[in-house]
Amino acid sequence: MKISDLLAKNEITYSFEFFPPKNYSSILELGINVGQLMKLSPSFISVTYGAGGSTQDASFDLIDYIQNKIGLTTMAHYTCVNASKEKVEQDLKFLHDRNISNLMLLRGDPPKGTKDFVNKAGYFQHASDLIELAAAKSLFCIGAAGYPEKHPESVNMDNDINYLKYKVDKGAHFVVTQMFFDNNYYYNFVQKAREAGIDKPIIPGIIPIVNYKQIKKFSDMCGTQIPDELVQQLEPYQDNREKTYQIGVDYAIHQCRELLEEGVPGLHFYTLNKSRATVDIFSEIRK
Ligand code: FAD
Repeated sequence: MKISDLLAKNEITYSFEFFPPKNYSSILELGINVGQLMKLSPSFISVTYGAGGSTQDASFDLIDYIQNKIGLTTMAHYTCVNASKEKVEQDLKFLHDRNISNLMLLRGDPPKGTKDFVNKAGYFQHASDLIELAAAKSLFCIGAAGYPEKHPESVNMDNDINYLKYKVDKGAHFVVTQMFFDNNYYYNFVQKAREAGIDKPIIPGIIPIVNYKQIKKFSDMCGTQIPDELVQQLEPYQDNREKTYQIGVDYAIHQCRELLEEGVPGLHFYTLNKSRATVDIFSEIRK
């Protein structure tokens, strides 16, 4: 099933993102959590690629398993890191041969310890390069990343939106956003995207805060603002897991309800391979 077909039906898509587990205990944990999340009948599952140092093989193994053994619709993330044209051709064939028809095509982050993303000459430099190549095959439904608070390397929002438009013009069928906590960033971003002529669905990316220090670190890296009122609620309890969980999940429920009322095309949850928060949010927003 192509995600563009799901979106064309105007039904709200609910999707969950996982990353490949790194050791035996995290494999077990992921299995348990995928089992819990399957009960929510997700529209699709996505698996990150190379993020946080995970291996590319592990990413392909996991996506193959979820698509072909569990039987859920999947979206494979794929990046420009170490991507020569030959390798990209091989990898896309590998995915297509395994019935994986949805791709989230990305540039990837600079390797640890380096600030700038510099690929070898002749290698793919931007997500748009991958999108152009994959779109020419007419086999895949393609997602691209969007940044409601702009990509950290972009000089300004207009510039970033122009490159998003370029990705859509090259063949992206939909956009999934970076996480954000203040819905106004998403609304403004969608408005700017529409003004720039981007007419594809823009699915908001949601991350419930269940570990304040971890999410603060991610947010700082991605340039995502945590609203002051939420920081003030969370900071006194940053060493109290249960209290943090309650505040973070309540906030995410409120955020998702408001987005649904505004008519978003779907909600994409960054699960961090956990299930409890997403299950609790679902039991409230789908009442
Ligand atoms: P690009 O679209 O290439 O943009 C990168 C920067 O360059 C931006 O500032 C943009 O404005 C600018 N730019 C874009 N095109 C051009 C151009 N043609 N010329 C000049 N400048 C240009 N990372 C992983 O490693 N693995 C994952 O699985 C992963 N999944 C993600 C999923 C989502 C939904 C999101 C939002 C991010 C994900 N990331 C992942 C992180 C992503 O790789 C980083 O944010 C990366 O820094 C940028 O990726 P991009 O695809 O947006 O890059």
